[in-house]
Amino acid sequence: MAESIKGVTVLGATGSIGVSTLDVLARHPQRYRVVALSANTQIDRILEQCLAHRPRYAVMVDESAAEQLDRRLREKGSDTEVLSGVEGLERIASLDEVDYVMAAIVGAAGLPPTLAAARHGKRVLLANKEALVMSGHLFMEEVRANGAELLPIDSEHNAIFQCMPANFATGLHQNGVRHILLTASGGPFRATPLEELKSVTPAQAVAHPNWSMGRKISVDSATMMNKGLEVIEACWLFNTDTSHIKVVLHPQSVIHSMVAYQDGSVLAQMGNPDMRTPIAHALAWPERIESGVADLDIFEVAKLDFEIADLNRFPCLRLAIESMDAGGTAPAVLNAANEVAVDAFLNEQIDFTSIARVIEQTLSRVERREADSLATIFEADEQARETALALVKRSR
Ligand code: NAD
Ligand code: MG
Repeated sequence: MAESIKGVTVLGATGSIGVSTLDVLARHPQRYRVVALSANTQIDRILEQCLAHRPRYAVMVDESAAEQLDRRLREKGSDTEVLSGVEGLERIASLDEVDYVMAAIVGAAGLPPTLAAARHGKRVLLANKEALVMSGHLFMEEVRANGAELLPIDSEHNAIFQCMPANFATGLHQNGVRHILLTASGGPFRATPLEELKSVTPAQAVAHPNWSMGRKISVDSATMMNKGLEVIEACWLFNTDTSHIKVVLHPQSVIHSMVAYQDGSVLAQMGNPDMRTPIAHALAWPERIESGVADLDIFEVAKLDFEIADLNRFPCLRLAIESMDAGGTAPAVLNAANEVAVDAFLNEQIDFTSIARVIEQTLSRVERREADSLATIFEADEQARETALALVKRSR
């Protein structure tokens, strides 16, 4: 039983991860109290969430959306206080009464509040992989310097965390780890003939075979940029480099990743593909709690397949690995160019195969610098967005 009730902020409450997080929290009112929720523009959903979970604060990033939410909450007699802007996000990630912060905003927008949570020594439940891709070095420094706890929510990284020895932060080699096997479903186009990739539609790309997720990460899964971002994420979380991470295609998404040891042991974490498992794990760690996820029926699964990932089919995976090897601001540039390219693809401004092209050309045009300050990282992010946008316009 928990010693005291933990106060939780959910950044990105209206998204796929946010909704799953609230589902797990609601199963354990004696352990967790929802202190604050945030959303970008989805008023109806956050209104409902505020009425159900009665947080002390709700943040709408958009000012006019905040005013509307405030009005509608008052009509319902709610006493939830409404804040707005990035300042509002940083505030709810830093409050004294908050112990745990779920970082589930999508994209670069999630970095400032996630960093604020680390600076204030919170337990950071990290879903927002883009934050770590952009600023891995600075972020990990803030975690260490301020005694924050970093628990991965991304299913693969949560699985790796579960399979790691307790002292992994002091070095993988010293602790007997040989390498990490990062699994990937391969997305909806794992077996699509290469010449057909050019004409796939946004609707086909967001229809993931095993997981139900937000639109951006669904497209990232189809290009396998998601796996590329995850290679980078794993390097920072587990203090290693890309040569110690092997990407394995595993179409069933039952094994969520593995750790290979020097003695020949390979540890895997398995489960149904439902994000409530890693969310519950990270909330309760080192204890275990109910998540609402059905037991894995291994007899129904019956068979597990593994294949090597083809970097020709998935150039985004190659670009991500190359940018991590290059270091500095290269991963931030990759991430920003990807956000622009995915958005353009979803708005039918570029075709599917152009996503990788826009990213590769952006990487070759934006000068790589040391990622030694947040200002430099955001400058690189902005420059990459401008460059990628120009490339998108030119290809229309
Ligand atoms: P989503 O699109 O469903 O939700 C995104 C959330 O972020 C929403 O609450 C939205 O209101 C908020 N948001 C969007 N833009 C914002 C902005 N500019 N400022 C403030 N808030 C903003 O996304 P998701 O699938 O829940 O993914 C969230 C994060 O978790 C992503 O970084 C993703 O890579 C990661 N992740 C998701 C999954 C999954 O299964 N969905 C798995 C692993 C990792
Ligand atoms: Mg993942």
